[in-house]
Amino acid sequence: MLKTIFLHLVLLCLILSCSSVEKNPRAHNDSLNLFSQELRKLVSRKLRKRDGVVLWKDLKKENIEVFGNQDLLHQRFSPGSVAKLLTAELAVHKNKQLDYYCTGQGRLQNRRKVFCWNYHGHKRVQLHQAIAVSCNLYFLNLAEKLEFLEWKQNLDSYTALKNPSLQFSLQSQKDLKWALGEAEEMKWTPQETLYFWQEFISRLQQPEYEEIFLGLKQVAEKGGTAEALAEVSFEVLAKTGTIQGTQGLHEKNAWLLVAFPEKEPRFLMIIFLKRSRAYQQASDLAKEILLLVKKYETL
Ligand SMILES: [Zn+2]
Repeated sequence: MLKTIFLHLVLLCLILSCSSVEKNPRAHNDSLNLFSQELRKLVSRKLRKRDGVVLWKDLKKENIEVFGNQDLLHQRFSPGSVAKLLTAELAVHKNKQLDYYCTGQGRLQNRRKVFCWNYHGHKRVQLHQAIAVSCNLYFLNLAEKLEFLEWKQNLDSYTALKNPSLQFSLQSQKDLKWALGEAEEMKWTPQETLYFWQEFISRLQQPEYEEIFLGLKQVAEKGGTAEALAEVSFEVLAKTGTIQGTQGLHEKNAWLLVAFPEKEPRFLMIIFLKRSRAYQQASDLAKEILLLVKKYETL
């Protein structure tokens, strides 16, 4: 009798475990669909009075999901501080990192006076901190130790950014604006930015990128340029970019690049907001999206 009950129990367990194996992928897909619907609702609510686009990429899938104004996807905008990643990358390849003290202003070798976006200065910064706080003076001083042509070669090493029509003027090379992503000629679309970010993230696994990895982590921590993301309970990699618009001081566009989980990222997100006044707006939107990710933790 006991033997029969035991056999029945084993059989029942087998049936239950089989059905749960069948059920899980469906539950997972439902959850992904719900997440996608909620994400669309969230972005359209947040972008009701603002022009912008959010690109979402699950590296386990082929397609990119686009939320917000789809027309912006293929329009070109200055990358601003996002392009400092190329400068940082060349610096680690050439082993030219600086130990720099930012007072908020300084002079380049040609005596030209330059200012950091933070007038109070960032104090002592090394490469990872310069990425975290996006210190302009660090990157301008770093650029003086780098070769523009090597920087351009590095840019061309990204399939998404390789553009033979992108000719830099001599002026851009001289005033080092390329190192800050502010050269007039340099313009990326949100889609190109996503593909660049994907390629950049894949290179981060190499040991020489350790300091850049640390910098990207600190962007999303307290004191970083996207510190709103510190309120999310999982760690992400991020880089901000703020670009002066053509319509005056308050007309600033903002980029925010996000990748997570921080080790071997699977999800990538690009937020581009037009005339967002400040990068905090993009960070706040990213924070809300990441809180949504947490809610659907089956991701
Ligand atoms: Zn600075």
